[in-house]
Amino acid sequence: MKKRIAILGSTGSIGTQALNVIESYPERFEVELLTANNNINLLAEQAVKYRPDAVVISNGSKVPELKNLLDGLPVKVYGGHNVLGELAGSDSIDIVLSAMVGYSGLLPAISAIKAGRTIALANKEALVIAGDLITGMAERNNTLIIPVDSEHSAIFQCLVGETNAIEKIYLTASGGPFLGKDIDFLKNVSSLDALKHPNWDMGVKITIDSATLMNKGLEAIEAKWLFGLQPSQIEVVVHPQSIVHSMVQFEDGSMKAQMGLPDMKLPILYAFSYPERLKTDFPRFSFTDYPNLTFEAPDTERFRNLQLAYEAMRKGGTMPCAMNAANEIAVEAFLNNRAGFLDIPVIIEKTMNSINFVQNPGLDDYHQCDSDARAYAGEFLKTL
Ligand code: MN
Repeated sequence: MKKRIAILGSTGSIGTQALNVIESYPERFEVELLTANNNINLLAEQAVKYRPDAVVISNGSKVPELKNLLDGLPVKVYGGHNVLGELAGSDSIDIVLSAMVGYSGLLPAISAIKAGRTIALANKEALVIAGDLITGMAERNNTLIIPVDSEHSAIFQCLVGETNAIEKIYLTASGGPFLGKDIDFLKNVSSLDALKHPNWDMGVKITIDSATLMNKGLEAIEAKWLFGLQPSQIEVVVHPQSIVHSMVQFEDGSMKAQMGLPDMKLPILYAFSYPERLKTDFPRFSFTDYPNLTFEAPDTERFRNLQLAYEAMRKGGTMPCAMNAANEIAVEAFLNNRAGFLDIPVIIEKTMNSINFVQNPGLDDYHQCDSDARAYAGEFLKTL
């Protein structure tokens, strides 16, 4: 039977790659629901091509225009953010790919988990903000969360068939476009420079996070929740070639790695086909093309975000939520040339120190923390 797939965030980088994957296996997968934030033209184009049962545009004011574009097609059109959760939890869906960016992905992911839909999770921020809530809920509802993030997919793949305890995981990081650059260079770097990622083709926000190493900090927290680890069991190692996607070390000292050419379509496909592996025609890795695979420790003096993320992870409670909110504001400011590259960790650290910390938060506390941290970071920006 075909797996019916909902894509939350279908017009983004992961969403469009997921549709490419689905298109290659028409006997395996079909598209049930597509949602986007703002991009009605691409959403309409996708709806015409993939014929989902329904589409949602979060920006509700664009519903009439979208209905117009889809006139005559048997596709239901909805608007607004609230309907996302309801539709994502519907019985007609087998897998929900959560590929929205940032905090906005949290509530739809929670609804889908509550409804027991299998989640292919690309929205790492949801776990960063409320990992305890999400993983607890998934456990109670017997919901499978399959990571789409390449590092976490690698670890997930290394753990298939294992019932043994993990001693440690190694999250690999490409190091981003500024690996090895000095402070003077980083002080004046522009958002255009930061958007040139050497290995991965990704969305704008994650590309900046990758340049600041915040992406790896978010991923460390994501790994903590997905695999039930302590911060001391999660180590980041810089691996500029992005061939080893991450590693697991077991208690006998043995290590498993998952490797391959960097291509997000692979972890997306694996999340859809799990536990099966489907044949692909993706280019294969060749050792002779990469005679040198190198590994080094990350520079947390120059890339302070990684340090801040570990601090937030150790502190727990609402701290990762505050950190994430401040980071979203700081990245946006950097993209709009309202903050420098080196201001990003300053904005995050100031915000983390200013919030009203809650050790055992519920959803309302996260919501409050997110909006307080955004407000604080926004005010602080003006003083730069
Ligand atoms: Mn990743």
